[in-house]
Amino acid sequence: MSRIGTICVKDAKDNRTTKPHQLPIYATSSFELESVEEGMAIFKDPMTGHLYGRFSNPTIDAVADKIAQLEAHNTNVNDPWGVMTSSGMSAITTVILAELVAGDKILTQGNLYGGTTELIKNRLPLYGIGCTLTNLTDLNQVRAALQRDKTIRLIYFETPSNPGLDVIDLKKVAQVAKEHDVITVVDNTFCTPIIQQPLDLGIDYVIHSSTKYLNGHGNSITGVVIGSGAQRKKKVWSTMKAIGTNCNPFDAWLVNNGMKTLALRMKQHSSNALSLSKYLESHPKVASVNYLGLESHPHHSLSQKQMSSFGGMMSFEVVGGLSSGVAFMDALNIGSLAPTMGDVDTLIMHPASMSHLNVDPTLRLANGISDSMIRVSVGIEDIEDLCEDFDHALQSI
Ligand code: PLP
Repeated sequence: MSRIGTICVKDAKDNRTTKPHQLPIYATSSFELESVEEGMAIFKDPMTGHLYGRFSNPTIDAVADKIAQLEAHNTNVNDPWGVMTSSGMSAITTVILAELVAGDKILTQGNLYGGTTELIKNRLPLYGIGCTLTNLTDLNQVRAALQRDKTIRLIYFETPSNPGLDVIDLKKVAQVAKEHDVITVVDNTFCTPIIQQPLDLGIDYVIHSSTKYLNGHGNSITGVVIGSGAQRKKKVWSTMKAIGTNCNPFDAWLVNNGMKTLALRMKQHSSNALSLSKYLESHPKVASVNYLGLESHPHHSLSQKQMSSFGGMMSFEVVGGLSSGVAFMDALNIGSLAPTMGDVDTLIMHPASMSHLNVDPTLRLANGISDSMIRVSVGIEDIEDLCEDFDHALQSI
């Protein structure tokens, strides 16, 4: 019979066998082993059990597995897997460090999410991983860069890009990369696997900021790397474990909750963004609208080829430049000014002064991210209310 202090310390066991209907949150930093022998076996082959929360956790692994299933759904991708991380940035860092060493280079585009540009252009070179920027929409430039520089070991890109909405041909870039034995990594945050499945088009790794659409409700920061095959999983998982970029179970659980409505949400995001873009395109106070669903967009037909809908992201410029844009953003009621995207509610953001503030202005402007660009993450509200709110804010400038 234990004494009172010991009873306080030890968890009581629940012997009833019914399973929880919803995914439980395993808030534990380690897992109890039945025997030393069991511990030794799992340490030898860590995929067979749980040991320590930085290595794996049943909540996190269930969510990672669901995302991997979505990325591979109805495709020829075999043995898909996912590794969740503490943020989108840590997913990017983890996959790059899993594949590259000092002396290697990344080939990428100039119009990535600002944080990714900062990592690839400013931070990684400090550790010997260099980068070359090129226009990845031009395959001749991609081929020329790979032929010229054999230290390029990885092509990293976003399609559509954030916030410019440039679309890169996934299948063709994957083909060229394979011809040169170079790894490809694609950020699929804007589309989610509901709209685009890069692994099926020959891309080696997909990453997400699952902070965004996969969660959908703006209440956790997480990331995920998805790939196929046991060898690659081991590489990414052991890098995550070594550098400690693991996700936490509560944040993963919030992503799981959000994903229950992902398919429905992506349909509504796309339909609202198309309607709002068409409405803005004909508005006298709007100078230009950038949305892949508009036939006027230069990448409209490529996006139709590799995406099942055009997504919820768009950008536009108001007549009168930056000062009118600022007045517009301040006057909106339904749309909130917030430096994130992919939530159920409409979010607006000014890339030049927010997400891309730390990107060299010359590089930013050369890639179409103007001072007056307003990015909109179109939510799932009633479209009539959104159009009325945008109209009211435009009338006030
Ligand atoms: N990728 C894209 C396209 C993003 O927009 C962001 C963040 O805004 C990230 C990656 C980084 O994600 P996180 O903020 O979850 O680290």
